[in-house]
Amino acid sequence: MADNWDKQLACATQCRRCDRKLERMDQRILSVYDHAPICMACKRDEEKRPDYEQVSKEAIGQCLIDTELAYGDPGGYCFYHFYPFTC
Ligand SMILES: [Zn+2]
Repeated sequence: MADNWDKQLACATQCRRCDRKLERMDQRILSVYDHAPICMACKRDEEKRPDYEQVSKEAIGQCLIDTELAYGDPGGYCFYHFYPFTC
């Protein structure tokens, strides 16, 4: 991923999980499983997975480590795994 991750992810035009089209103002969120932008329906499905809590904890910890050097705004990138955002 490049340092323009925010544009690549935030402005994805479709959900990577279900292929639903995402309009600019549709909320999307990053998967804690594969960091892909997904729609809110897919996020709700992720939250039902039995390992979600464990995976999400690990994801945030790993995210902060991975992004410390790679991205200009690691807080934003990690934050978007838990808070929906629009383009
Ligand atoms: Zn979806």
